[in-house]
Amino acid sequence: QNGRVIGVMVVATQRKGRKYTVEEQEILLAFAEHASLALTDAQRISAVEHMAFHDTLTGLPNRAYFMERLNQALGRARKDPSACLAVLFIDIDHFKIVNDSLGHAAGDTLLGVIGRRLVESIRTDDVAARLGGDEFAVLLEDVNRGNSIDDVVTRLLSNVNVPAEIDDHSIPVAASVGIAMSDGSHDAAELLRNADLAMFSAKTHGRHRAVAYEPSMHSHALARLHLEEELRQAVAADQFEVHYQMIVSLDTGEPCGVEALVRW
Ligand code: GH3
Ligand code: MG
Repeated sequence: QNGRVIGVMVVATQRKGRKYTVEEQEILLAFAEHASLALTDAQRISAVEHMAFHDTLTGLPNRAYFMERLNQALGRARKDPSACLAVLFIDIDHFKIVNDSLGHAAGDTLLGVIGRRLVESIRTDDVAARLGGDEFAVLLEDVNRGNSIDDVVTRLLSNVNVPAEIDDHSIPVAASVGIAMSDGSHDAAELLRNADLAMFSAKTHGRHRAVAYEPSMHSHALARLHLEEELRQAVAADQFEVHYQMIVSLDTGEPCGVEALVRW
């Protein structure tokens, strides 16, 4: 291919003393050229596919690849009544501080370190992916229901939550993790969303912890969204009233301030 050797085609015959004619040699040469073109195309396609399904910073699979693998795993789980799989949604705590203090390049290095730690913490059949920013996801297939997932997550976090040595600094690392399990009855987007909601709960309960998804998290998120919409509409419709309430000193009986209340 363009003067570069990309492979060797061996043509052999069992017939003794057989020589290939000039015409036959030409056909074989044309065949070799076609094969080399096809091979080069295949290499190019696999490089493009690799780029489409991997994150360039960490080398980890990206969100598209993760969703693909999650879909396949859910399909398998649906066929096996005893199967159970787990999705972990991992967001690094206070990651921005690293960017803001040591610079974006140090932040990038830290993301790479965390990616490697995740890969080292899982079995080869499981998947660790970078979803974007400081968010990672892990797919664990064939987990036992009940306690064993906690052991897996504890082991994984004990590998991740270790200070990273970057630019002569020892950077503390901590992650918040949401866990969502499935027997195959969820779809991939729903399961990842559940893990994300559980991760959000881990953040709001003080970070640096793992929280398992509960259905109430979804109803809370919906209620919150609904309330936000209603508040926006209420502002537009001028539905808020301010009421002032006097504060009186118990010692003197004199007014010493006012409290402003917003009523809806
Ligand atoms: P929290 O504890 O709530 O997770 O806070 P946080 O500081 O980790 O911030 P958050 O997770 O909300 O946002 C992640 C930040 O990561 C936002 C952005 O500045 C930074 N970031 C996103 N992508 C990259 C990247 O590719 N490289 C680097 N260095 N930083 C990134
Ligand atoms: Mg974060």
